[in-house]
Amino acid sequence: MTTDFTATRAQFHLPEGVIYLDGNSLGPLPRAAAARVARTVTAEWGEMLIRGWNAAGWMDQPRRLGDRIGRLIGAEPGSVVLGDTLSIKVYQALASALEMVPERRVILSDTGNFPSDLYMADGLVRTLGQGYALRTVAPEEIAAAIDESVAVLMLTEVDYRTGRKHDMADLTARAHAAGAITVWDLAHSAGALPVDLAGCRADFAVGCTYKYLNSGPGGPAFIYVAPRHAARARPALSGWLGHEAPFAFDMDYRPGAGVERMRVGTPPVLQLAALEASLEIWDGVDMADLRARSLELSEAFLSGVEAACPDLLLASPRAGAERGSQVSFRHPQGYAIMQALIAEGVIGDFRAPDILRFGFTPLYTTMEEVRAAVGILARIMATGSWDRPEFHRRAAVT
Ligand SMILES: *Cc1c(COP(=O)(O)O)cnc(C)c1O
Repeated sequence: MTTDFTATRAQFHLPEGVIYLDGNSLGPLPRAAAARVARTVTAEWGEMLIRGWNAAGWMDQPRRLGDRIGRLIGAEPGSVVLGDTLSIKVYQALASALEMVPERRVILSDTGNFPSDLYMADGLVRTLGQGYALRTVAPEEIAAAIDESVAVLMLTEVDYRTGRKHDMADLTARAHAAGAITVWDLAHSAGALPVDLAGCRADFAVGCTYKYLNSGPGGPAFIYVAPRHAARARPALSGWLGHEAPFAFDMDYRPGAGVERMRVGTPPVLQLAALEASLEIWDGVDMADLRARSLELSEAFLSGVEAACPDLLLASPRAGAERGSQVSFRHPQGYAIMQALIAEGVIGDFRAPDILRFGFTPLYTTMEEVRAAVGILARIMATGSWDRPEFHRRAAVT
């Protein structure tokens, strides 16, 4: 193993007394990000004012950082750009993909997909009319449901609830054989495990940066368009920064070169500064090492909890190769159990109706923490200490 995970951990601010197993939902603060954002605010925004767009390179950040993320997801140079939120990027990718298969009308997805992806597809279908439809089947039935009616196969590689992982290479090949195009959501893949977009011949992909990539709350999403499609994909959200020449201020829209056409409006400069600081940590990380350590941590947690907490039902695949970088358990009182855990400093999260979710992030999570978390969870379950009124009170964000 060439990656030094002790060194990567030292680059994060981790609050005292907390074991953080929720980096799959919001990554922690990279130490360098606070200073980087402060510098962008004071030295760039403060001193340069509008000159920062050129002098500080603000305008190029979405593409430059896109390339650094590209390395983590197996994307060709120049094929990834940042901006907007993931829901917006799902819409853009899906709209462009549908236009590339004009004779078909069906978007195929699975019932385990993140609701926002399905909501965005539903909204797009309603806007398009003309017989467009979203078809969902159980995750296990996806392969069999790919037929010649499908225009676009839209899947999230790793299920946000269970951590079950689709076989991207196999499903992409099946989609192509049936004449369909793929949109992969990498929300729980980017920074969680090796992804090989180019090797899989994926068509479009999207993902967020505030989960495993640690860009902070509200960090921008990314979009990938395979270079073979980039000159042909028509952006549905035709904003000025996706124009071939934004500062020509033409009356008519002409899409920009390559993936740049997927930009919409003004980039989030402060969030990009935080992301840049975070990506510097990733520069020293080998994704195969990351995967190996992620599976070690996940396996230790999974087997420890199964042995110590018979009332918790494993919701994730038992085989590491079939999981992303999280482990989930079911319990009818999952919400209260998670609140009790958080009160003891072990932060995971809860997903309705009954899922306790734990993310494993080798950049800053150690085996000692995983063992300690198992011990605390075991004690909460054995004593029933979760069954106190304050742990049943629901907050807006779970
Ligand atoms: C986290 C997540 C989102 C969130 O979308 P935002 O627009 O960034 O809020 C969307 N889809 C998937 C699959 C996710 O995991």
